[in-house]
Amino acid sequence: MSAVRARIAAAAQAAGRDAAGINLVAVSKTHPFEAVTAALAAGQLVFGENRVQEAAQKFPGLRTAHPAMRLHIIGGLQTNKARDAVRIADVIETLDRPKLADAIADAIQREGRAPQLLVQVNVGDEPQKAGIPTAEADAFITACQARFGAELAGLMCIPPAEGDPAPHFTWLAACAARHGLGILSMGMSGDFETAITHGATHVRVGTAIFGARG
Ligand SMILES: *Cc1c(COP(=O)(O)O)cnc(C)c1O
Repeated sequence: MSAVRARIAAAAQAAGRDAAGINLVAVSKTHPFEAVTAALAAGQLVFGENRVQEAAQKFPGLRTAHPAMRLHIIGGLQTNKARDAVRIADVIETLDRPKLADAIADAIQREGRAPQLLVQVNVGDEPQKAGIPTAEADAFITACQARFGAELAGLMCIPPAEGDPAPHFTWLAACAARHGLGILSMGMSGDFETAITHGATHVRVGTAIFGARG
């Protein structure tokens, strides 16, 4: 945890940025409850989980003891999980299609609570990957802003595993700027320093904090 924080601070400084503007989302998916409590003890409050069900098992109890902790849902979301996600998440980072926007809007109304929402863009336009295709991103973001207002707070991406992620981070930052969106969730264990250079406000780091997933 402290090693990753030091690397974030160094990358921020190299980019001429204030490290306070970069939020570490500790990705605790597949790691046990104990890993989360150890991270909490080290002062980490923001966590990312892929699966709503796993998050629902791990987090609600901890929240009572740690009211300041925050949960980001960062995995692909099925429409039939939208209500559970809206109930437990502080941020849903994976809004990527109109049907899911419908389901989230409905869930917000039913639950009477609204998490922050990020639109996930498939920056590499990879057929197997989640995210709105780049050609459809502007129209989808505009529609989501009209629908969700300020809760639509930013963009998220996972660049292709191969090749230089920098052009994808640059693309996402420009897209966020076009829409006046302040949050840029980009960068994982392998590329978070590059993402910080290109304007990430949130980096989602799992392996570099918790070790390899089993
Ligand atoms: C698993 C995951 C991460 C963290 O990946 P690491 O390489 O372990 O840091 C970040 N973002 C998303 C969407 C993930 O699914």
